[in-house]
Parts: sequence; structure tokens; C-alpha cells
Amino acid sequence: MEQRFYYSIASGSSGNCGLYVAGDTAVLIDLGVSLRRITTALAGLGLTLDRIAGVLITHEHIDHVKGLDMFLKKSSAPIYASRETALALSIKNPASQGRVTVFQAGEDFAVGAIGVHAFETPHDAAQSVGYVLSHEGRRFGFATDLGFVPVDIADRLRGCDTVVLESNHDPHMLQAGPYPYPLKQRVAGPNGHLSNPDCAICAADLVKNGTKTLILAHLSEKNNMPELALQQTKSAVRGLAPCRIIVAPKGHMEAPILLEEGEQCCLFD
Ligand SMILES: [Zn+2]
Ligand SMILES: [Zn+2]
Repeated sequence: MEQRFYYSIASGSSGNCGLYVAGDTAVLIDLGVSLRRITTALAGLGLTLDRIAGVLITHEHIDHVKGLDMFLKKSSAPIYASRETALALSIKNPASQGRVTVFQAGEDFAVGAIGVHAFETPHDAAQSVGYVLSHEGRRFGFATDLGFVPVDIADRLRGCDTVVLESNHDPHMLQAGPYPYPLKQRVAGPNGHLSNPDCAICAADLVKNGTKTLILAHLSEKNNMPELALQQTKSAVRGLAPCRIIVAPKGHMEAPILLEEGEQCCLFD
């Protein structure tokens, strides 16, 4: 059996980029920080840019594509995006014209040894998506930047061994926090970001259905705290089934998370 791991290079309001490796295939999910930060993080794992088989873009917001222009200059790896996202990128990042491999949301395709399924997410972008990545029968779900979890997305994520799920904000911190009222409405709205309690509800459903590793991601710097996000989901899944819960830090993780069959599962205290 080949090794699989996930490594969060950046997560949160100021930039998002993740690395999923299955066997010989390495893909990046989003490029929301400078290319220098990405290459430095890869170098820490002994990887270089030419090992990247493809980049899966979730949507065109700057915290997901900040490093795109520089990436296009330094790498010939294919960039994958939904049709509307590719169109939005062609306007915001003209260098991406002709360089993006377009897919229809709902379509299946492959990047190297990894099977990719993209599903549409409710978010105020052109056509944002989440992903389920498959390799040797194991499934890895990725869903950030979504105002809520629609039934069809819950169905998609159910049964994934590992899920990266948004736990963006604490509703009380958001309401009491510094954001102007319209922005508070946007973040809390159905096309905004997933709150800690909504993440916890989804997490409990996932853990009941076999998810062994949950990675809480895209935490707001102003409207959340890692301990709050962790606490809320931990209490929701307590007693259901063994599961490890990890908060993706703002910067890169200390070490990659191994996603192996025999990997020890525990509820972190
Ligand atoms: Zn967004
Ligand atoms: Zn975002």
C-alpha cells in the first residue's frame, strides 16, 4: 500500500494552500500564499515544485489564488478550476488564460494516481467547489468556504476517511467583533463561511459514518480561536467513534498528517 498524507501549508482568512500526496502523486489545493512560502514549505518535506502533478483551485478569492501568477511562471503543472472560476481568473489573473484546465462541477477526472470529484459549494464566488480525492479506495474530502453544508455535500463527504472542513467563526465573536455590519452578514449568511457550531454538526455526522481524521480549516483570525473551534467539534463527536481532530494552523503544519490504514486514531485532549 502506498503512503498518503496531507500537509496544510496555510489556512485561514489570509491565505490557503494544502498539499495532498498519494503514492507518487502530489497535488496542491489552492495557492493562496506567496510562491516563496509554498516552495519553502515543500522544501521542508524534501519536495520541489516539479513534483507537483496539478493544482486544484476551489475559487477565485484572493486568499486562494495569491500565488497563482508566480506559480504559472515557475511551473508547468496543470491548474484545474471550474468553468466559471476559470473565467473569473482569466479577468483577475490574465496570465492564467489558456493555462487552466476547466472542469464542470460534478465531473470526475484524474490527476496522476488520484481520482478527483469536484462538487459545487454555496459561497459568494463565481462557482466555488470542494473536492473528494480518491486513491486505492480511500477518500479524502475537502470543503472550505461554504455558508452551510447542503444535503448533497454531506452525502459526498460521508464515508471519507479524512475530511478537511471549514470551522471559520464563532457566531458570538463574529457579532461582537470588529467587522462592519454588512461583512458580518456576509460571513454568517448562506453564501459565506461555515461557523464552528455548523462544522461541529457536520463533523458528528461524518464521524458516525466512518471519518477517522478531521482537519478543521479556514479559521478566521478575528472571529475565532483554535481552542474554541476544537472544543466545539470535540464535544460534538465525543463518544461517537474514535477520531482525531486537528486544527490547521495559520502557517504550515509542523509535520504532515499520515492518512494510513493502521494510523493510530485518538481524540486529542
Ligand atoms: Zn472565499
Ligand atoms: Zn477563503
